[in-house]
Amino acid sequence: MTDLVNPATGLAIETVPASSLYDTDAAIERAHAAFPRWRAMAPADRARLLRRFAATVDAHIEELAELEVRNSGHTIGNARWEAGNVRDVLDYYAGAPERLMGRQIPVAGGLDVTFHEPLGVVGIIVPWNFPMPIAGWGFAPALAAGNTVVLKPAEVTPLTALRLAELATRAGLPEGVFTVVPGRGSLVGERFVTHPAVRKVCFTGSTDVGKRIMRGCADQVKRVTLELGGKSANIVFADADLERAAAGAPAAVFDNAGQDCCARSRILVQRQAYDRFLELLEPAVRAFRVEDPALETAQMGPLITAAQRDTVKSYVDDAARVAFTGTAPEGPGFWYAPTVLLADSPADRHWREEIFGPVVSVLPFDDEADAIRLANDTEYGLSGSIWTRDAGRAIRVARGVETGNLSVNSNSSVRYSTPFGGMKQSGLGRELGPDALLPFTDVKNVFLATD
Ligand code: NAP
Ligand code: MG
Repeated sequence: MTDLVNPATGLAIETVPASSLYDTDAAIERAHAAFPRWRAMAPADRARLLRRFAATVDAHIEELAELEVRNSGHTIGNARWEAGNVRDVLDYYAGAPERLMGRQIPVAGGLDVTFHEPLGVVGIIVPWNFPMPIAGWGFAPALAAGNTVVLKPAEVTPLTALRLAELATRAGLPEGVFTVVPGRGSLVGERFVTHPAVRKVCFTGSTDVGKRIMRGCADQVKRVTLELGGKSANIVFADADLERAAAGAPAAVFDNAGQDCCARSRILVQRQAYDRFLELLEPAVRAFRVEDPALETAQMGPLITAAQRDTVKSYVDDAARVAFTGTAPEGPGFWYAPTVLLADSPADRHWREEIFGPVVSVLPFDDEADAIRLANDTEYGLSGSIWTRDAGRAIRVARGVETGNLSVNSNSSVRYSTPFGGMKQSGLGRELGPDALLPFTDVKNVFLATD
């Protein structure tokens, strides 16, 4: 059993069963048994079931959002968006079964065609930071391509995933097509890696566990998609609209209490604009509303656990130069005030490591080349922002920064219709958008002799 805690109060909310190895194997075997019928279902029927699943999620947005506020401490505004994102991703990929087209290739002596065959059972391992969206980014395209799914939510945040599985059943998905298996990563997650019926693992979480999963998958040449950590740069040139860049910077890193792989946790500011930018950033950080996440006005809630807060605190040690901080409630719950640190050099620990909390580091740079060099001086490469009024520079820098998702004069990285994923050690493969479907399939080539 796992005792769940409301991160905003520190109080127990409920207890959920933790799956044993036996339960996990049984879930995988049910998914394996459900596969032949699901893959053989007429494409229009599979599409219709996914649309019904989307509509059922839509009818439960408020309930799902409230669950996420309680279990994960997400702000109610974010949690509504997250539930809506599950609906949208399901709707988007509901278009796929009828469009999963192969090719006809001209050859001598016959007809040659390709099929995008589903893989079988797909295992999805979800972290605690975005329980709903990250689940949906895996299960929606996996199901659309004709696979069945077993999904392991993070041990501390299983409630919305368990509810989504109930909604899938209510929408009419056949038994065994989508199963949520709550429990420990070292047990349930590991079993997804070692069980031969699971043909692909989608993992989102820490880079260390991701590497371990990739190594484990190698034994069976199991397909793997990895979405790992980040240390993304927010690059502000002196010619930018500094007011907008500074106004947007707090949410770009403190949203979800900084527990976001896309968090712009390194702010690079061109030297001649450095003082002015900090002057503008300070009131924006102080005004950032950290409060009970159930309040409509909340912009940030608590951290997920006391342990995560301890990790975050360890970066704000005596050596760290604090420029200014925002505010956070006193008392119970895992609160931490937004904190802005001035980096002395790119060697600073808080500049280099993913903190996964509401702490941002600021460093000046000299010119375009310097900005690109500093932005790329990391093992990660997930997202980032570029603020400038010079369109040519925006494109040059965007091409120069080695990350999977960049935004210019904006901090938005996630749209369900565009690819999302990391370069370097931030990941392998892409989720969302038009490219995410085919990695849930294998190409089969068939030659039919006509002579
Ligand atoms: P984690 O250990 O990588 O957990 C992510 C998911 O993997 C959870 O469902 C976890 O299960 C599962 N897992 C853990 N060990 C596993 C194993 N050996 N085999 C298969 N699955 C396994 O991440 P964390 O410990 O929650 O967080 C640690 C740090 O990772 C954070 O501070 C942050 O820096 C980073 N992180 C990044 C992201 C991201 O989106 N890129 C997300 C979360 C965390 P349990 O819930 O049982 O542990
Ligand atoms: Mg862990």
